[in-house]
Amino acid sequence: MVMTTKERTELRNELVSQGYAWEYVDEWQPKTTLYLHRARTNPEGDVVKPVGTKISGVPGNPDYVARKARIGMLPYPPSDTCECKWCAGGNVNKDKVTDSGEKVDEMPESATCSECGKVERALTSQAAQMKIRVHLKTHSA
Ligand SMILES: [Zn+2]
Ligand SMILES: [Zn+2]
Repeated sequence: MVMTTKERTELRNELVSQGYAWEYVDEWQPKTTLYLHRARTNPEGDVVKPVGTKISGVPGNPDYVARKARIGMLPYPPSDTCECKWCAGGNVNKDKVTDSGEKVDEMPESATCSECGKVERALTSQAAQMKIRVHLKTHSA
């Protein structure tokens, strides 16, 4: 991949803003691992891959991972400290809602608030823990 200095600088800025290391543009590996910060859904809106899904063997080309970052695939797992627009937006685990507005109860994992006993459910236990961590902030507010 041949890039001009300007292109390289722009790509570096974009990757760094998405949480990549400053050196990534120079030291990228042919294959890398990305994590979904936005659930992947099919055209019907069903979650195909939940938030936090680890995807390995992704081509590591800087321009490729920059494009992936724009659609919610980042090189680190989602967390409550993640500042990407999907995690920071609080829709990490968007509950599935039917046309009638009812939530579909197909969240197999749960976590319990140690302060008040509130239970949060999610597709993955990691996501449920994350919901509790977000909820815990309401106690310290
Ligand atoms: Zn994130
Ligand atoms: Zn609580």
